[in-house]
Amino acid sequence: MSLRNKLILSTFLISSFLFLITIVIFIAISYYHMNDHIQKIHQNVTKTFSYIQKTLARNANEVFFDLGECGFGHAKSYILLREEGLYIGRVANCRFYGTHFVNGIEFTANVNDLNWFIAYSRSALERYAEGKPGFLDRFIRDRIVLRDFVIEGEYSPEAVKGLESSTGYEIVDGYRTLVMDFPVLVDNSIPIGRVFFVKDLTPILKDVLMTPLIFFGYTAALVVTLSTVLLLLFNRIVRDVVYLRRVATRFKESDFSDIPSMSEMLRKDRSRDELFYLKRSILTMAQELEALISQLQSEKGKLEELAYTDPLTGLSNRRLFLEEAKRMIEYSRRYGEPLSLLMMDIDNFKNINDEYGHDVGDLTLKKLAEVIKRNIRGSDIAARFGGEEFVVLLPRTDEKGAELVAERIRRDFKKDPVRVDGREITTTVSIGVAEIENGENLEELIKKADTALYRAKRTGKDKVVRFADTGEDRGQG
Ligand code: GH3
Ligand code: MG
Ligand code: MG
Repeated sequence: MSLRNKLILSTFLISSFLFLITIVIFIAISYYHMNDHIQKIHQNVTKTFSYIQKTLARNANEVFFDLGECGFGHAKSYILLREEGLYIGRVANCRFYGTHFVNGIEFTANVNDLNWFIAYSRSALERYAEGKPGFLDRFIRDRIVLRDFVIEGEYSPEAVKGLESSTGYEIVDGYRTLVMDFPVLVDNSIPIGRVFFVKDLTPILKDVLMTPLIFFGYTAALVVTLSTVLLLLFNRIVRDVVYLRRVATRFKESDFSDIPSMSEMLRKDRSRDELFYLKRSILTMAQELEALISQLQSEKGKLEELAYTDPLTGLSNRRLFLEEAKRMIEYSRRYGEPLSLLMMDIDNFKNINDEYGHDVGDLTLKKLAEVIKRNIRGSDIAARFGGEEFVVLLPRTDEKGAELVAERIRRDFKKDPVRVDGREITTTVSIGVAEIENGENLEELIKKADTALYRAKRTGKDKVVRFADTGEDRGQG
């Protein structure tokens, strides 16, 4: 995976993680708040309920009110029912007195903005009505009958589940409705139904959700900003790394064309971070490498020249001559063109060395090289073959033509004496000429020219001899 993708992925993961954590925290907070609200409503209802009971009790002549001793759960309140609408009852040693039941409930509903209804169990009512002729009919008269229940008040379908099950409070309808119920008991503590309070939670829900939503928005904006900043930052790093990799590859391939633009870029760069110093080191390395390579190349060139040229005369040396001559012979063979070779040797050179010293000998060698150079064509190859022996390879030249060139060289060399301390030292050269014949190789050609040169030496020196005139067979003798 590339660096860029890695960075993008990690930014994405970190942002998502932050975002997720925030959401979880806010969901938890919202949940807690919602439950807190619900609990408060429930507490309020319970308190109001118990307050009503106490008020009812105070209004009566005979009051004895102690839920704890009466054995009922203290979170719940109990109201007793009578058919006349006045509720008086007794639970073990407890006595309850009161006024119209509905008034009390309506008071509770107003305090907490609740809807309410009472669901009486029909079978319980029937049991209660035994031995009380006409009670059930009178009781049911104005009330709604739903399944096995007799409903009084504003029946709410959300609470329908609560009709069957037990007391307490419950949130239904996707956190939109709170349903609370309390048992309704008659004088001998017979449970006869339950009173339900239904609270619309939507405003609270909205309230509770709004705060996290705002926070959620802020967090989202924060995460997006953070990710963008991180990505921008990463992008600069990645861009620089990619750039450095590219120039480093070019530098590795000895392509230093990026050096000027890179140093210009670094000149403008104001940052002084690790990346800057890395770039600067790479640039310095590249510059040093470039200098080193160009130095090496110039030295290599010098060495190559040394390996192929004769330092004294500046002509090709034997090695280069052999390489090039082979190629030329190939060429002349392919195109059926003539090719000749001159082999020359300075006459009595040993004497020159002995009489005038080696320096004069060297001057003589240089002079012959100059004479050769100015008497041949650019396409000819002249070389110092060794000691005071020189060769010239003449492409597209037959033995006759080569003889003319050789003769020119011989004469030119003779009439241009070496001048030392005001004295003129005349030297001569002997030259053997040979033309290549079908199927001959370089060695055989050299041998033929050498044979002709040998003949020139033996027959008086300072002359040009053609191999054809030696009477020798090719390459022999
Ligand atoms: P010949 O006419 O038969 O050629 O007689 P020669 O004296 O020239 O005999 P030969 O060709 O055998 O002599 C070669 C001599 O050339 C031997 C060596 O002292 C001398 N020599 C070879 N290379 C150099 C060189 O680079 N500089 C100088 N000064 N002398 C060289
Ligand atoms: Mg010699
Ligand atoms: Mg000689």
